[in-house]
Amino acid sequence: MSDWLLEVTDLKQYTFCPRIVYYRYCLPRIRLITYSMEEGIRSHEEEETREELRNIVENEIMPSPPNSLSRCVTCEFRLFCNDVI
Ligand code: SF4
Repeated sequence: MSDWLLEVTDLKQYTFCPRIVYYRYCLPRIRLITYSMEEGIRSHEEEETREELRNIVENEIMPSPPNSLSRCVTCEFRLFCNDVI
């Protein structure tokens, strides 16, 4: 355990309760995911998606087609996507 780095979050958690830091580093496999943590993760993922969309629109970047090209068969934009159909 000599190569670990202390994170800013650890200081915050330590002031909340020192045992949280102990559980995090000494018993990492029993970490439970609370509802608040799940919501935080979901919110973070949504923000990443919004950022990706903003980047596409602002920079006019043509994104890749979907993994399943079966969606293209009935898509209203299929005539614009000559590279997939
Ligand atoms: S036809 Fe084009 S716009 Fe429509 S789903 Fe396929 S890649 Fe996307």
